Amino acid sequence: MLLKNCPEDVCTYIKKNKETYVPVGPELVQTSTFCYDDYQNFMDQSKDENNNYIYTRGANPTTSYLEDMLSDLIGCQKCKVFSSGMGAIAATLLTLLKQGDHMIMLNTIYGEAYSFAKYINKFGIELTKVYIEKPEEVVQYIQDNTKIIYLESPSHQKCQMLDLEGIVQIAKAHGITTVMDATWASPLFMKPFSYGIDLVIHSMTKYIAGHSDSLGGVVCGSTDVIDTISEYGLRFLGSVSSPFNSWLTIRGLRTLPVRMSYLSHAIVQFIDAIRDDPRIAKIYHPYAATGYQQELSKKYLSGYGSLFSLELVDEDFDKLTAFVDKLSHFSIGVSWGGFESLVLPSFKGDNQAKLDERGLRKSHMRMYIGLENTQTLIDDFTQALDSVY
Ligand SMILES: *Cc1c(COP(=O)(O)O)cnc(C)c1O
Repeated sequence: MLLKNCPEDVCTYIKKNKETYVPVGPELVQTSTFCYDDYQNFMDQSKDENNNYIYTRGANPTTSYLEDMLSDLIGCQKCKVFSSGMGAIAATLLTLLKQGDHMIMLNTIYGEAYSFAKYINKFGIELTKVYIEKPEEVVQYIQDNTKIIYLESPSHQKCQMLDLEGIVQIAKAHGITTVMDATWASPLFMKPFSYGIDLVIHSMTKYIAGHSDSLGGVVCGSTDVIDTISEYGLRFLGSVSSPFNSWLTIRGLRTLPVRMSYLSHAIVQFIDAIRDDPRIAKIYHPYAATGYQQELSKKYLSGYGSLFSLELVDEDFDKLTAFVDKLSHFSIGVSWGGFESLVLPSFKGDNQAKLDERGLRKSHMRMYIGLENTQTLIDDFTQALDSVY
């Protein structure tokens, strides 16, 4: 069967019709490649595939629009978007590290980022994973070949914060690049660049896209470093955001300030309602922190993310399972940052050693407060607790 030819070629058709309407929404340019009707122009543009529209693995207008919005919001020279947070993390580390280099990872790190750092040992990249309280403790782990200090603050599991200025000062004195995963606080509540962090990564899958319907990641920093990561880490490894996912993320980003402001109040209301319950042993969240951790949270955070974790006094695992099943407004599931509230116990029947390593009780669970009515969530939590404990 022969397809009917368009009356004119696609480029001409689109150009002509573009002048007849002005959409209020951002344009979704769902295309793999871009066509030219002038070969000289094509040759000129192809000289920089990261910044000109040749092929979507290099650049795409919908994704560029998202990157510009993010650079503005985050306050950096340049951002590059990936198909997932792990895409951004892997591309950044593989671009900046080479055989014989050493990296330090601090405190709790997103599990897969830590596993990846261990995995690339097969390329001769050394890793030291350490737990520190004060920044000066990092000095003893620095080697002549240390190239990166990788950190997460607050960390997504224990919500632990680090003294960014202290770490940056030590890193700069040793010519080490700092890479920080800032997903927990979103770009709104913490500004790592104001304290001298070199590269900031967000899993956009969480708050930025914000609707649990799309994966994405972004790495932010100075133009030269981001261009290098684009050239090698993005174009060679290929974890490119589909234009549609970039478009969904733009839609999420537009409501990020209102969602974060709601969630910051919601988590305070939730913690206030449960913090004095004698059945709860510990709450891990900057708002519930004390002492040094509280000082750090006052210094670095201008609002709160709504991901937290808690431990119950009673460590009976059957009871914990019953409790989680009794919750009707918290679904059991990984990830977070969308509309729906979620819960995830850390003990999975066979990972006691991992829990011990992280200093967590068997009753430890992670909870994400979503955009539902907060009192409904508090009531749900209380009824589940009352019915089991
Ligand atoms: C989810 C997450 C990641 C990984 O992002 P993906 O988009 O799932 O690949 C990295 N860091 C943190 C803190 C996360 O929560």
